[in-house]
Amino acid sequence: MLHPHSLYFDHLKPAELEFLKKATAFVATEIAPFADEWEENEELPRALFTKAGQAGLMGMLAPKAVGGQELSMLCFCLVIEEIARHCGAFAMNLAAHNALCVGHPLGYASEELKKKMFPSILNGDWMVAWALTEPNAGSDTGGVETTATLLPDGRWEINGHKTYITMALHSDRMVVMAVTGVDARGKKEFSAFWIESKDIEPVRKVPTSGVRASNTSEFFLKQVKGELVGERGKGQHAALACLDSGRLGIAAMAIGLGRGAVELAKQRLLTRKQFGKRLAEFQALQFKLADCEVELRAAEALLLQPCVMHARGQKFTMEASYAKLYASEASSRACNRALQVCGGWGYTRDTAVERMWRDARLTEIGEGSSEIQRLIISRAVLREAEEKYGLAEPKK
Ligand SMILES: Cc1cc2nc3c(=O)[nH]c(=O)nc-3n(C[C@H](O)[C@H](O)[C@H](O)COP(=O)(O)OP(=O)(O)OC[C@H]3O[C@@H](n4cnc5c(N)ncnc54)[C@H](O)[C@@H]3O)c2cc1C
Repeated sequence: MLHPHSLYFDHLKPAELEFLKKATAFVATEIAPFADEWEENEELPRALFTKAGQAGLMGMLAPKAVGGQELSMLCFCLVIEEIARHCGAFAMNLAAHNALCVGHPLGYASEELKKKMFPSILNGDWMVAWALTEPNAGSDTGGVETTATLLPDGRWEINGHKTYITMALHSDRMVVMAVTGVDARGKKEFSAFWIESKDIEPVRKVPTSGVRASNTSEFFLKQVKGELVGERGKGQHAALACLDSGRLGIAAMAIGLGRGAVELAKQRLLTRKQFGKRLAEFQALQFKLADCEVELRAAEALLLQPCVMHARGQKFTMEASYAKLYASEASSRACNRALQVCGGWGYTRDTAVERMWRDARLTEIGEGSSEIQRLIISRAVLREAEEKYGLAEPKK
């Protein structure tokens, strides 16, 4: 039987296969046995990030020249998927860390600033958060109200309120998006800043339904000093570009959660008996398993496409939306079915199925909700049709 991963493996270099093997061993010893405990304590230990950094997991996409692993997007996604099979919260953290917290400065920071952050943000010495979302700026990133003002001494001062920021309260440094003025068309000008996290004013760890071990943080920025990451006015463009890679990480997380929940469901189907038979013998439950397998494989196939495009140096915004939209919804359906076939046990916290079901739900919301992905896709499809049939309306 041809497993989609065998197609994946054709696209990986020998060194990447080796990295994947080591990452799988890391997951088995350092993550899988502790995932339930972290969930219960609602905390990921700091030492985990240090160990992950030492194992190369904090710098998967960064080039070797700055201390990274220089892995392909596909290899990165496979590692995230493997982690998510056991711990959605840590998978989400590493997905965001590599694609956003490292990806943003890597792609846009000045060489001078890069010297200050690399390799500390790759080797586990520093934890980094990436702060775009605010009380009035979620799907609509243009709603950002945090401001940054240029001081006479050349430094920037940042004031504002950020919320739902992964690990901000435990981070050492942060990339923060803020408004730095208005552009020539009178529209808000966005820029990104590098700040020290000790300067923020914590509000709270936001209590979430899933990914409870992750510290989803709310905080104020009051006269915080920061350095520009990239050019002034290019912050929104850079943030959206980083989200393309971020969405692939979330798609991989979703697939891993679906796979993890279905694995547990299979074991239950083969061991639990009712009406004198194993649950696995009831066709109603067999069909749920079949639907999960088909949809997870479809999600894996959809994820391969943008990964290959990334390797070719092609733009993959649309393909990232297809992959994220489908994988996240397929994962929620798979986790929901997995929970259902496990019955009352599935709904208890005696099994990780329930945790995965809650964690999967996040993938439909974070880094661009399903509705936003549908907007991106439908607009592009209609634009293409307008061009193809010469039906574009004159610009007003
Ligand atoms: C656990 C967790 C971790 C997170 N980590 C981070 C982080 O590290 N950094 C960060 O910056 N952010 C982070 N976020 C924020 C996340 O990216 C946002 O929650 C997400 O983008 C959705 O924004 P919102 O919550 O404000 O929802 P809203 O924008 O208020 O949306 C509410 C609903 O309206 C829909 N909607 C909105 N606009 C439209 C439209 N035009 N058409 C149709 N439907 C629409 C949405 O799809 C959604 O269903 C995190 C969130 C969570 C829950």
